[in-house]
Amino acid sequence: MGKDTKRLCKWDKDDVKNDLKKLKKIVLPPTYICCKCGRVASDEDYLCKPEKV
Ligand SMILES: [Zn+2]
Repeated sequence: MGKDTKRLCKWDKDDVKNDLKKLKKIVLPPTYICCKCGRVASDEDYLCKPEKV
């Protein structure tokens, strides 16, 4: 698993700051929500406990 497939759940505020462009691509459109962290992503692979919205 490379940096590109790092789960959004594991991102901290520095990751967000450094990779805002990538974050937008991951989050939009918000198709899945993480039941554990409350984050949303376009792909379930980015979340630790994904559930379709
Ligand atoms: Zn999560």
